[in-house]
Amino acid sequence: MTVATVEDLKSLFTDIAEAMAREKDRLCELDGVIGDADHGIAMELGFAAAAKAVSELDETADPTLVFNTAAKSFLNAVGASSGPLYATALMRAGASAKGKTSLNDDDMVEIVAAFAKGIQDRGKAEVGEKTMVDAWAPAAAACRSAREQGQPLAACLTAALEAAKVGAEATKDMIAAKGRSSRLGDRALGHMDPGAASAVVVISCLHAHFSP
Ligand code: ADP
Ligand code: MG
Repeated sequence: MTVATVEDLKSLFTDIAEAMAREKDRLCELDGVIGDADHGIAMELGFAAAAKAVSELDETADPTLVFNTAAKSFLNAVGASSGPLYATALMRAGASAKGKTSLNDDDMVEIVAAFAKGIQDRGKAEVGEKTMVDAWAPAAAACRSAREQGQPLAACLTAALEAAKVGAEATKDMIAAKGRSSRLGDRALGHMDPGAASAVVVISCLHAHFSP
């Protein structure tokens, strides 16, 4: 059984911020094709701000405070539509961790589910509308289903990552119904949604962090 401590969560945010810095150009290029080319900048700024703010929390912080602090910093740092979407995801993760001092396998699976649900509730996008929901929703479902079959967290996150990659790939065949790229109609066909691509980056970091 994995036990994720506040220190684990802090270093997870650092991992995600570093990954977004590496992926920034690719994400901006994807957004350049069907949006306004800023998605990599938004994700890098948001997670850098979140990682810095959580790293400054003292030893009395609990997981809820880590996620809530990350949410507030992400929202303040990002003007793009990914700002409120990820801030809501992080707030929901905070609510899901309420009262816990560390997070076990079940709790971490619920964190992934809370993330996906938060993004869906905030943006009102369904699967098939060419958004980050096309990666997050199947990832959360695969994660939960692996856990229900008794898999340990690492295997649940492997299932989540696989599902996120398949979901992101599938956005190439979709016409966008939400967000900036919905103005393009079928000109968006053939191109991966940048938000789905960055969701794969976040889930890859989760997977790498909790894999033995
Ligand atoms: P902006 O479109 O404001 O420039 P970003 O470039 O940071 O914001 O993010 C774009 C991504 O946000 C899209 O690729 C898509 O995945 C996601 N997105 C946009 N609108 C929604 C929505 N209503 N629900 C879920 N995701 C959305
Ligand atoms: Mg954009």
